Amino acid sequence: MTRMPDSIRHTLRAAQHPARAVPCPHCGAHEHQPCTTPSKRRLMPQPHPQRVSNWVQIVACCPACQVEPGVPCHENGWPLRNGDTHPRRHIEAQETAA
Ligand SMILES: [Zn+2]
Ligand SMILES: [Zn+2]
Repeated sequence: MTRMPDSIRHTLRAAQHPARAVPCPHCGAHEHQPCTTPSKRRLMPQPHPQRVSNWVQIVACCPACQVEPGVPCHENGWPLRNGDTHPRRHIEAQETAA
């Protein structure tokens, strides 16, 4: 891959984070709606990590634990804590979305 770092940064900073395609389990934001702070008064500049994990899990397979899209990450057969996903899967998902 010879993708320019600038294009990746641009994707991450874009007004609509690709993770907004899924609802947020943390703050309850609906699909395509931005995440909000617990008080709901302020919008979050970035989606909650849990939302990003959900999105990553849906769109990408994991290079670390070899699961297919839609399947949660695991470590030696055990699910990751808090439904987390491997960092390498996040990179994979961002390249899919770019
Ligand atoms: Zn949220
Ligand atoms: Zn994984």
